[in-house]
Amino acid sequence: MTSIRLERCAKTFADGTRAVEPLDLEIRGGETVVFLGPSGCGKTTTLRLIAGLEAPDPGGRVLFDDVDVTEVPIERRNVGMVFQSYALFPNMTVEDNIAYGLKVRRAPARARVDDMLTMMHIGELRRRRVDQLSGGQKQRVALARALAVQPRVLLLDEPLTALDAKLRDGLRIEIDGLLRRLGMTAVYVTHDQAEAMSLGDRIVVMSRGRVAQVGRPRDIYFAPANRFVADFVGTMNALKGVARDGHLELPGGRLPWRGARAGEVEILFRPESVTIVDAARAQLTGRVLTSFFLGDRTRVVVEGVGATPLIVETTERREFAPGHAVHLALDTDAMLTLDR
Ligand code: ADP
Ligand code: MG
Repeated sequence: MTSIRLERCAKTFADGTRAVEPLDLEIRGGETVVFLGPSGCGKTTTLRLIAGLEAPDPGGRVLFDDVDVTEVPIERRNVGMVFQSYALFPNMTVEDNIAYGLKVRRAPARARVDDMLTMMHIGELRRRRVDQLSGGQKQRVALARALAVQPRVLLLDEPLTALDAKLRDGLRIEIDGLLRRLGMTAVYVTHDQAEAMSLGDRIVVMSRGRVAQVGRPRDIYFAPANRFVADFVGTMNALKGVARDGHLELPGGRLPWRGARAGEVEILFRPESVTIVDAARAQLTGRVLTSFFLGDRTRVVVEGVGATPLIVETTERREFAPGHAVHLALDTDAMLTLDR
């Protein structure tokens, strides 16, 4: 299984755009690494550097299994790629699309194409033209084509972004199963944090061409390294208060405070770390600003606890009408303080 290493890889485009700042990254053999970040942060460019579709600025190196491939063109790197836009031949059949890479390499195609059709559950579509397929079917064909040539590395750039929600969930589960079963090295680009959390062995959170944090999904979620990661991954509440005498004083109440710092501090916590309680057990009290019934839970936006509204989630079935008092207790072990 192929490991990938990027060493001081930067990318400046001809027009002067610095898409990627000098970046060092190690991807272990067999690992699924997800690049996560907002649009324009450099995810696709980094993926293209790995693929050999872009060359890094002078001084940057790309290594596969410790061998420098910086000068090796894409067709000799043996990578499989899947794009958001499918990039299939629309007027060719499914099987011809899947066989394409094999034929280019003069490799026997027939048995391999059959295997790929079975693996992606698209056997009955083999003689259909690609332009007659749904988005989800096209993406299955694109995966089959990428895997047919038995690449060392699979690179996926937002493969589910163009699909509707239900289909996205189904194919995500399937891609996850596929990557685990094949055990191959994969790099998956997305701006969707749920996708990143569920697929990645590790996540590389990117912001403005830089790595904001690298870690397992749990590390990224529970121990964000900085404010950008805290805000980008999941929902994060922030409260400013004054720490004194073992308490944190807030506009809506007070919390126990064991932190070393005194004076003004900002705490961060996830919606699920707050519980709606009755008045007697309240640490904090605010009012319902608005609420969103999501079926399995209700998302309640609470004002008056701090300077900005808090987001709280509850599985209680009752309605939360605007203006009504909400009493809250916080899991203080789940509180974070960040200096940045
Ligand atoms: P992402 O995939 O995270 O949305 P990209 O890697 O596509 O981001 O782009 C990163 C930055 O580089 C963006 O500002 C984008 O506009 C710019 N960029 C991408 N490709 C080119 C190019 N060929 N020429 C000039 N700028 C580019
Ligand atoms: Mg992109």
